[in-house]
Amino acid sequence: MGVAHRRLVILGATGTVGCQALDLLERAGSPLRVLALSAHRREAPLRALAARCPGAAMFLTSRAEDHERLLELLLAGDYDVCLQAMVGAAGLPFSAAVLGAGRHLALANKESLVLAGGILMELAARTGAVVVPVDSEHSAIHQCLAGRARSEVKRLYLTASGGALRDLPLCQLESVTPVQALAHPNWSMGPRITVDSATMMNKAFEILEAEHLFGVPARHVRVLQHRQSVVHSLVELVDGSVLAQMGPPDMSFPIHYALHYPARVPAPLEGYSPRLFAQLNFEEPDPERYPALALGWRAAELGGAAGAVLNAADEVAVAGFLEGQLPYSEIPSVCAETLDALPPLPAATLADIAAADAWARQHARALRTALR
Ligand code: MG
Repeated sequence: MGVAHRRLVILGATGTVGCQALDLLERAGSPLRVLALSAHRREAPLRALAARCPGAAMFLTSRAEDHERLLELLLAGDYDVCLQAMVGAAGLPFSAAVLGAGRHLALANKESLVLAGGILMELAARTGAVVVPVDSEHSAIHQCLAGRARSEVKRLYLTASGGALRDLPLCQLESVTPVQALAHPNWSMGPRITVDSATMMNKAFEILEAEHLFGVPARHVRVLQHRQSVVHSLVELVDGSVLAQMGPPDMSFPIHYALHYPARVPAPLEGYSPRLFAQLNFEEPDPERYPALALGWRAAELGGAAGAVLNAADEVAVAGFLEGQLPYSEIPSVCAETLDALPPLPAATLADIAAADAWARQHARALRTALR
């Protein structure tokens, strides 16, 4: 299929990734045609976006009827690419529908792989669907791996900026306020992901995502702290060569790549910058500053529903922190204790995953209350 004739569906169109994608397509004069757009409940911004896409259908997924119609459209498969930029676990059935239809999924919804990576990748393998990540780290690895057999890969290195609190004296972590944790040095993102970046819980999730996306066991995935967010991740091959993908910290790059993959299509973006590339540092993350990081490998080892459980516990803990009910330093403890308490739950279907998610939320809330 030629890139020029691709028909696109954008899920979560009113969010930052959705809006950036549309801006980018317009600026690039892209021939991709937007067939449908969805938002959760922001009707006016969705209408404004749809007005820029002649003939595009609109869906508000907070309406039961639209929710069902959109799932039907995705399952019917009469489109080429779906940009999945919904927020949260609610995006899971929509990702599954795209993969069930054997279509190209440009995946920005993190929860899909963290919660149900095993189920979704199996589905993709069955239908021949393509999953291209829209996350700077996984996009970098995807680009470095292009055309490589898994047997040629020794290790993956995810880079991490270190987040808003990377230079704060350790003794002050306990008294961190939401305002401090929300001041990210390189990327501007929503509140939960910014806190997850400060704790490096986001990197714990990315370890799980990398394992699912690339079929590389989590024990072969490492994390490097890289303050500049210019090297988006690295791949070490069995012959010792290390490949990196680089560029400014701007989501436009992974969005453009994922929409057009496997083609490389001109974009109105500047990759090299003498100022940004002048100095690049890499260091081992400090486990005392980032205890949440180890939970990624722990969850991978547990397997099954552990990703869903870790995600749910973190959501509860971060909400508690942002509401002033939980100290910053207790976010990883709530997550670790929830993961440790995980009973042997089934994880074969999306319903199993939803049940594990509910169990973890309840458990984490009880812990949060106890820690107040
Ligand atoms: Mg990332």
